[in-house]
Amino acid sequence: MAGLAAGALGLLVLLSIFLIQRFDRAATEREEHMVENGFAVVTAELNRVVATQVEWDGAIANLDNRFDPNWADFNIGNYLHVFHGFSHAYVLGPDDRVIYASARGERADLATYAPFEATVRSLLPEVRAQERVRPKPGKRPGKNNIVIPSIQASRIALVDGRPFIVSATLVQPDFGEDLPKGPRAPIAIAVKPIDQAMLKSFADRYMLDDLVVRSPAALSAADGKLLLSDRSGEPVAALTWAPQRPGTMLLRQLAAPLFLLLGMLAALAWRVIQRGSAIATDLIASEARAKHAAFHDSLTRLPNRAYLFERLAQSLRRVEGPETAVAVMCVDLDRFKEVNDTLGHNAGDALLEAMAERLRLACSEATCVARLGGDEFVVLLETGDEAAALVLGRRIIRAVSERVVSEYGKIEVACSIGFAFIDQPGIEPSEALRWADMALYRSKEIGGRRVSRFTPDMDQDLRHRLQLEVELREAIGSEQFSMVYQPHFDRRRNLKGYEALLRWNHPVRGAISPSVFVPLAEDSGLIMVLGEHVLRQVFEETRQWRGVKIAINVSAVQLRARGFAAQVMRILAASGADARSYEIEVTETALLGDDQETISNIDALKRMGFAIALDDFGTGFSSLNVLQRFSVDKIKIDCSFVAALGAGRGSEALIEAIVNLARGLDMIVVAEGVETEAQWDHLLKAGCRQFQGHLLGRPEPAAAINRALPALRSASAA
Ligand code: C2E
Ligand code: MG
Ligand code: MG
Repeated sequence: MAGLAAGALGLLVLLSIFLIQRFDRAATEREEHMVENGFAVVTAELNRVVATQVEWDGAIANLDNRFDPNWADFNIGNYLHVFHGFSHAYVLGPDDRVIYASARGERADLATYAPFEATVRSLLPEVRAQERVRPKPGKRPGKNNIVIPSIQASRIALVDGRPFIVSATLVQPDFGEDLPKGPRAPIAIAVKPIDQAMLKSFADRYMLDDLVVRSPAALSAADGKLLLSDRSGEPVAALTWAPQRPGTMLLRQLAAPLFLLLGMLAALAWRVIQRGSAIATDLIASEARAKHAAFHDSLTRLPNRAYLFERLAQSLRRVEGPETAVAVMCVDLDRFKEVNDTLGHNAGDALLEAMAERLRLACSEATCVARLGGDEFVVLLETGDEAAALVLGRRIIRAVSERVVSEYGKIEVACSIGFAFIDQPGIEPSEALRWADMALYRSKEIGGRRVSRFTPDMDQDLRHRLQLEVELREAIGSEQFSMVYQPHFDRRRNLKGYEALLRWNHPVRGAISPSVFVPLAEDSGLIMVLGEHVLRQVFEETRQWRGVKIAINVSAVQLRARGFAAQVMRILAASGADARSYEIEVTETALLGDDQETISNIDALKRMGFAIALDDFGTGFSSLNVLQRFSVDKIKIDCSFVAALGAGRGSEALIEAIVNLARGLDMIVVAEGVETEAQWDHLLKAGCRQFQGHLLGRPEPAAAINRALPALRSASAA
């Protein structure tokens, strides 16, 4: 734009210069024309002067009929010099020979004629030719009016480098008192120098500046000029003067305001250009920002789902075979939901940011690292080397699985990866991601913190899971769900209570483990209805059982739900059961953090008379803080520690530590999953107070317990 403006300005200036020059040139041409005419007028006037001196009867009498040099001195040589500035005068006889010469008003030697002779000779034929054809003047008495046309010719001559006007005039009678004696009359020659005096009067008359005579060789293009040619037609001198330049003059006068105006225009244009470019820059920047925002996640600043899909589509289009394959990795934090649910969203965000940073660092060779949403990230790697891609996957797990220290405390993190190696053309981005996601699910299923490679059977599994979810939805509230109760005992194997465990007897698939369908119910939101069903059933079936504690498992999702305690209260009241006979089992991670609903639900349950047991102790984010904060009544040591007993010193020491800790806080320690007498001995020695496991009793339906309970109770009492 600036270039365009400058170009237009330049063009304008060039055009102005061109026009001014044209204007000046035209003016100069007009002046030259004027000077040419003026010079002709001056020459004519000079001729006229000479003519008045030699065209009368006296001139015929004194130059032709007889020759009187004195008369010639007075009337020609002296007169022309003194009054009209002629430098030389001559008289030629009828035979064209010089008979009289005068220089600067004085009679002179005839030899002074020589320099002008050639020029004069060139004029004579013209004069004589006219003389031959002129009307013969005759005597006409009484009539004093013979008006005879002058017979004259003039020419420029260059003598000693100085230009002269040489004019030849035929001597003629006027009244015819005296007539030439022969057919040819004398001719008067007058020579006038084109000198300073003549130029000055000429310049004054035509208002010319610096009028000078120059040699035609020394002309300047800028000057106005009139070329003066001699008899041969060659320019021998030039009149030159400083021509008027109206264009330039106009420009000079207009220059200042014009430049001012141009300056202002330029400044204005500059301002407009600057403003325009600032606006353009802003626009470009804001477009870039918008584009960045549209394609990036605001929390982690990683590319987002939209970007990933585009990038993945691009990568997949390039796939032709194993050489040009793309590895798609879905990376998901293990148990992120728990952190988010328990430590709060800010802690979750901090964790995601830390994870994004670690991913970025670990995957420098990746084609793209994006956040798909939640705690799900995707890493793309264009590579034909599947093994190398798997190595990257394992490196990611190592990099991410480092404790995160944030203002919310130390958070243990780990991640799982689903890996799909796309080496065939024609796979859609959504399909590739679905594959990686299925592999991810497998990683999670088998405990997390690992890379699983997609295999076609996973597709089958996923369909199965989805199918199961549909069936779960339909089964809730039906006969398919029932409760079984597993007893727990004290150190002397006296019955202390039962843990209520949910069972799903699928009409086709048979018994399905709660560890399969409970997470499914949690994920799909069905857990609230399912949990309600459990509470109703348990209270209903067990309210008559006296002297035993019934433990009910409650999911973190239930505990976090607003009004959960009120729901329990309602069901309890409807069933007529006594809260003091029940224990709510929650996993320790459900109590982490400061979720207000969880806190108030626990408080309300405790106030109602429920005891609180911490389930699966030692497997989650064990926080001693939680034990005290919620004044937990019971700790249940997870089966895995019990199973590990005897295998090494570790688990014994751990169990002892937990027991000591619980004793200090006045809590009961229960060991779960006791299967052998050896384990029993170990646990007894470690100081466990209660025991649950197949060694002591398997879960049984309420009906079976109803039958056995009186006997058991009396055995315990004994
Ligand atoms: P949990 O609360 O830790 O329950 C104990 C699990 O250990 C039960 O598995 C029980 O059958 C099993 N078990 C007991 N003694 C032994 C033993 O000697 N050896 C072995 N290997 N296992 C033993 P189950 O019934 O499959 O339940 C699994 C998990 O499902 C439970 O773990 C609990 O977290 C959840 N769950 C069960 N019922 C419910 C329910 O009504 N509501 C909720 N929210 N979760 C439930
Ligand atoms: Mg339990
Ligand atoms: Mg347990």
